[in-house]
Amino acid sequence: MFPARIQEYLRPRSVAEALAAITRYDAGDAIFLAGGQSAMQAIKSRMLRPQCVVDLQGIAELKGVSVSNGALTIGAMTRYVEIAGHGQLDGAFAALRDATSHVGDRQVRNRGTIGGSVCWNYVAACTPTVVLALAGAMNLAAADGSQRSVAADDFFLGPLETARRDDEILLSVSWPAPPPRTGSAYKKWGLVTDALPVIGVAVTVTLDAAGQCSAARIALAGLADGAQRGKLGEAKLVGSRGETAAIDAAMGAIADAADAHSDMSADADYRKQLIRSLGREVATRAFDRARG
Ligand SMILES: Cc1cc2nc3c(=O)[nH]c(=O)nc-3n(C[C@H](O)[C@H](O)[C@H](O)COP(=O)(O)OP(=O)(O)OC[C@H]3O[C@@H](n4cnc5c(N)ncnc54)[C@H](O)[C@@H]3O)c2cc1C
Repeated sequence: MFPARIQEYLRPRSVAEALAAITRYDAGDAIFLAGGQSAMQAIKSRMLRPQCVVDLQGIAELKGVSVSNGALTIGAMTRYVEIAGHGQLDGAFAALRDATSHVGDRQVRNRGTIGGSVCWNYVAACTPTVVLALAGAMNLAAADGSQRSVAADDFFLGPLETARRDDEILLSVSWPAPPPRTGSAYKKWGLVTDALPVIGVAVTVTLDAAGQCSAARIALAGLADGAQRGKLGEAKLVGSRGETAAIDAAMGAIADAADAHSDMSADADYRKQLIRSLGREVATRAFDRARG
């Protein structure tokens, strides 16, 4: 497949230059390029036909993982391989490492970025699901100098849809310091290991001093509506101590209510079974990590 003619390719050195470039075009006629692992396929298949490509890989201020007093900020242009190899993503943030160390194959992990993944918000993508379960905030800047922070619950609007406006660039994804005794985990299952999942499950739990779950977030990848919370299951985890019966009840409630679809990869019942079995494993690991 060959792309439609692209008139201009730009490689700015700063966020200000990138925003100035994008606003010279009408909405949608210029796009940002991060790792290119989704955008290039869309351009080659002509699903996207940009007149201008603004390549973000020369912008140092968009790169890197920073942990400060427990708070975490990951620059939009930070590649999966850097997140997967970061030494401080334990406990509360361990789901990020679980996901990024298994996204696609080595090439995808060496090129793909957290920013590209959350902005693309593909239906079965791992990273938006983990960012949702971890309650991350997407930090955006616009050419008029304004900045805003959008919570994951408000950012992911459905497959390939987010709250980001065409004239906004994603700067970073961030989290405040998590409460003590917080743990998270993610696991996906797919027909091939190095590809998008049929189902992925992410869980975050916080325990009180007595070991009882005081807060839980569960998110799923692979359902037709894209990354989504499993609120029925969350309610069943709160108050538990992570006993298998409580976890099974939580995942069962999500699976029973899930709007699962059938396709070439798996039928709806299989997807629901994956939510139960992966969900048990992932939630158990999140509780273990919360206990330290
Ligand atoms: C073979 C293969 C296997 C894969 N397997 C998996 C998998 O197992 N799990 C998984 O989750 N994903 C998988 N993916 C998708 C992969 O994660 C992509 O890398 C990701 O979806 C896009 O990230 P990117 O950095 O390549 O962004 P790009 O493709 O460059 O960009 C994606 C979109 O985001 C926009 N964008 C990028 N950065 C910014 C920014 N800073 N501000 C505003 N807009 C921005 C672009 O304009 C574009 O619309 C796979 C892809 C391939 C090719």
